[in-house]
Amino acid sequence: RIAYVNGAYLPHADAGVHVEDRGYQFGDGVYEVCEVRAGHMVDERRHLERLVRSLNELRIRLPMPLAALGVVLRETIRRNRVRNGLVYLQVTRGVARRDHYFPDPATPPSLVVTARSVDPARADAVAGEGIAVITVPDNRWERVDIKTIGLLPNVLAKQAAKQAGAREAWFVDASGHVTEGGSTNAWIVTGDGRLVTRPAEGGILRGITRTVMLEVAEALQLRVDERPFTVAEARAAREAFVTSATNLATAVVRIDGHLIGDGRPGAVARALRENFHKYAQTGR
Ligand code: PMP
Repeated sequence: RIAYVNGAYLPHADAGVHVEDRGYQFGDGVYEVCEVRAGHMVDERRHLERLVRSLNELRIRLPMPLAALGVVLRETIRRNRVRNGLVYLQVTRGVARRDHYFPDPATPPSLVVTARSVDPARADAVAGEGIAVITVPDNRWERVDIKTIGLLPNVLAKQAAKQAGAREAWFVDASGHVTEGGSTNAWIVTGDGRLVTRPAEGGILRGITRTVMLEVAEALQLRVDERPFTVAEARAAREAFVTSATNLATAVVRIDGHLIGDGRPGAVARALRENFHKYAQTGR
């Protein structure tokens, strides 16, 4: 495997960043994960737009023009011979003597890109079974709209899920409403067939997959309510599912040990998953 690190393509085993990189010391950076399908990035433009937004919110400079970044992403995918899988990119505020203030003058931002293959048959097998989730209090900061590499609450929540025999953790806010998963957006289908997912303006990351799925839902003439839902409502739902670039739409069949519907992936989650790539933009 090959990793791109600040201008060089290096063997994965030798790829490292400086000990005083601000990503390493402060979590002072942002990232993106983009699906690769048939050798092409899915929704590259939207991922790069979100990257720019995250960087602007933190006042970190773009390490290179977007067109050049696209070239690096494609080259990393090519050098790793990824047909189906994902590409990861991370930008930090760069290397500077440890001090909380932004480096002044600004240091060049650090850029790391990696890519790896994921067997689509395995991902489909997981989706075919459905996953279990647990619920945990949302103890994150207020700026979860920024895709930062500071993911400790997400790490702890997902590890708790794993130890409980589940795959994902759903964060729950102080009023008992689900915000989102540790690395996914959360959705339910109500008894009368309406799709419900939390508004992107309120305490979640605006998932690219979430945005595209809203378009898929409209095309399939499904009714959608963008509003918060409670854990109780989710437990009583006809279906539940999560979305992300790596999970597409994956059914949730258990919440805190409680079976959702008949315990099998539902028709809506399946239809959204099957139709996703007709609406996502691949190869652009
Ligand atoms: N929420 C969180 C907290 C995430 O980490 C992710 C995945 N990076 C998502 C939602 C889903 O976003 P996307 O659909 O862009 O992968």
